[in-house]
Amino acid sequence: MGDKENELMELRRRLATLTEEARRNEDAWQRAHEREMSLLEAGGLGELLERLTDGLRASYKLATATLVLADPEHEIRHLLLAQGRHTDEYPDVLFVDSVHSLAPQLATGRPWLGAFVRADHELLFPANLQLRTVALLPLARGRYLIGSVNLGSDERERFVPELATDFLRHLAGIAAYCLESAVNRSRLIRSGFTDVLTGWHNRRYLLSRLHEELARCRRDRTPLTCLMIDVDHFKRINDRLGHLPGDDVLRQVARRIEDEVRGSDVAARYGGEEFVILLPGTGRDAGGLLAERIRRAVADETFAITGHAGEPLSVTVSIGVAEHRSAPDGEDLKVAGERLIARADLALYEAKGGGRNAVAHAP
Ligand code: GH3
Ligand code: MG
Ligand code: MG
Repeated sequence: MGDKENELMELRRRLATLTEEARRNEDAWQRAHEREMSLLEAGGLGELLERLTDGLRASYKLATATLVLADPEHEIRHLLLAQGRHTDEYPDVLFVDSVHSLAPQLATGRPWLGAFVRADHELLFPANLQLRTVALLPLARGRYLIGSVNLGSDERERFVPELATDFLRHLAGIAAYCLESAVNRSRLIRSGFTDVLTGWHNRRYLLSRLHEELARCRRDRTPLTCLMIDVDHFKRINDRLGHLPGDDVLRQVARRIEDEVRGSDVAARYGGEEFVILLPGTGRDAGGLLAERIRRAVADETFAITGHAGEPLSVTVSIGVAEHRSAPDGEDLKVAGERLIARADLALYEAKGGGRNAVAHAP
């Protein structure tokens, strides 16, 4: 009888241990799942970078989490800039030319767990050299190493080589996938703002920037001038030379305009043979002078067109200039933008009517 009771108690104890273990596993699984979902649901590249560094650090309760990104052509940094994010905002993200050279353990492509060794790991954790143990998770897409997630703990037992790495491998796989698709998405958004022929911004970009610039005007009480530039008799050029040489003319006109404008100006291909320049901080007189310089830069020298062996070609542009005039406070910025463009367009129309190769100002 006593034996049976003992046996039963022993069984109960084992059952309790197993239940507790199962509960812990389920907890761990649940937390890992939540972390991965938060990566998959990140709103954009910037947010993903935050979740892969600060987010992981907080949810794993670590001393630090850094992210290494292979960015040899600085493309990821430029994509972030195009989204108005500066790399200074991500002190724990390290942009490098090649991932392999940062730590010997990354080259294996598998998670590596163990003691923090300053000589081996200081490049991965430049801001925190008091760590005890680290987990290095290489991020691979195909055979290419796109980066690594690096977790650092000040606990001696936190990342030991015997620890199961399945969760971490899974996390690294999801992280690599999310990074690649966020970069691709950012590329797509950017290409939607770029004109393929000239490499300039397109009309869509211009209209969204116009909105921002008008808001700035209102806030800082600075002027804003808009130039609307249109190639004269471009249809004739096209008809005479053909479509491809016509494209070449447009590209060359764009280059000549570009040489006259500043980096802080906003230049866009507005339509077929129409270009718009926004000049923040510039009033109508200075804007008119710039327009005159652009007109001359195009008209004063003939164009050499590839694939066209005939006479060097003369090309001219007409330009309408309009300075933004603020309406009573509270005016819708979209309406204000449309008005500014319409006034520049009207001035352009006048320049055309006066015989072309001319600059005209909106009243
Ligand atoms: P105006 O001096 O009054 O501006 O006359 P225009 O001939 O320049 O104006 P119009 O609007 O009649 O013609 C513009 C032409 O530009 C018509 C269109 O076929 C051509 N075009 C538009 N986009 C492109 C392009 O990307 N490449 C080429 N080659 N031609 C284009
Ligand atoms: Mg036109
Ligand atoms: Mg034209």
